[in-house]
Amino acid sequence: MKAVQYRAVGEAPEVVTVPDPEPGPGQVLLKVTAAGVCHSDIAVMSWPADQIPFPLPLTLGHEGVGTVAALGDGVHGLSAGDSVAVYGPWGCGICVNCAEGKENYCLRAKELGIMPPGLGAPGAMAEYMIVDDPRHLVPIGDLDPVKTVSLTDAGLTPYHAIKRSLPKLVPGATAVVIGTGGLGHVAIQLLRAMTAARVIALDVTEEKLDLARAVGAHEAVLSDEKAAARVMELTGGLGAHVVLDFVGAPPTVETAGAVARVDGDVTIVGIGGGALPVGFGTLPYGTSVSAPYWGSRKELAEVLDLAHAGAVDVHVETYSIDEAPLAYERLHDGKVNGRAVILPNG
Ligand code: NAD
Ligand code: ZN
Ligand code: ZN
Repeated sequence: MKAVQYRAVGEAPEVVTVPDPEPGPGQVLLKVTAAGVCHSDIAVMSWPADQIPFPLPLTLGHEGVGTVAALGDGVHGLSAGDSVAVYGPWGCGICVNCAEGKENYCLRAKELGIMPPGLGAPGAMAEYMIVDDPRHLVPIGDLDPVKTVSLTDAGLTPYHAIKRSLPKLVPGATAVVIGTGGLGHVAIQLLRAMTAARVIALDVTEEKLDLARAVGAHEAVLSDEKAAARVMELTGGLGAHVVLDFVGAPPTVETAGAVARVDGDVTIVGIGGGALPVGFGTLPYGTSVSAPYWGSRKELAEVLDLAHAGAVDVHVETYSIDEAPLAYERLHDGKVNGRAVILPNG
């Protein structure tokens, strides 16, 4: 089968032919319908060899939707042809966090060498993929796989970040979304669906800000050195109750800290290498700063329920598997508006 692989440190991803996988006991084989292209892959492909926590080559793709093609021995409860979304942050399934469905915060994954598909285990950017356990699958019924696939990360990650801050997102509150790309444009929709907060979006091009407005941002502000002052103006000098930074680079975390309100939440989701100093006097009193990772199994089910209710619409541009390297290039160059999705069997 064809697969999109990151094969050697510093090289561009390549489309190669690899053996067709077969499901072992307890595993599920999916025929992949759609695989999302996440900016984290670009970050991973920029890491030096000593920082890459898995062996290469790696089949990319940590957002996947497929149809059940075969069940390994002992697997019940799924049928051939079922359309399913893959929950990516695989954990041990046994520790106290996994027992709550919070496999993204598994206490033993690292020790046991358990890694997400596309970020260690072979991922979704291939004609077929192996899922290690049926508990990592959520049936999506009649949802459009192409529109749904990115909800497994670009939906789930912002959902998890927003849910932690829901008590602060009361009517009259302000939420700032920095970076309105794959994750950010879904975050705006989730904020609108889950809260009555006012949403201020920041990005670097008018095209991205147009998408932010189209998906529900009340205000859209160019992310430059004047952005923090503009957000303070828009919030009557008080700042935002919740700031979600989907870039996480030094200038954006600085903006995030500068627009936080007293007792606000600053949530750094982007992995752009920025850090925000926390200590008495560095931020408004009571401000919390956190850097969450992905989301829980239950939260994925909740995000998919929002999709069934018609509350989220991921803006996608689609590519064949042979065009996957081009999709990564366009994402790297900031040219993807919304999410790029690969159709490995399309
Ligand atoms: P993306 O490229 O689709 O979106 C990033 C957006 O940020 C783009 O619209 C870009 O124009 C904008 N941007 C760039 N510089 C900016 C600036 N200075 N100010 C404002 N906006 C700016 O990327 P994505 O796939 O949505 O991922 C976003 C980030 O989240 C990445 O760093 C990714 O690695 C990270 N991520 C983290 C988690 C997690 O669990 N913490 C999960 C998924 C992705
Ligand atoms: Zn991702
Ligand atoms: Zn665990």
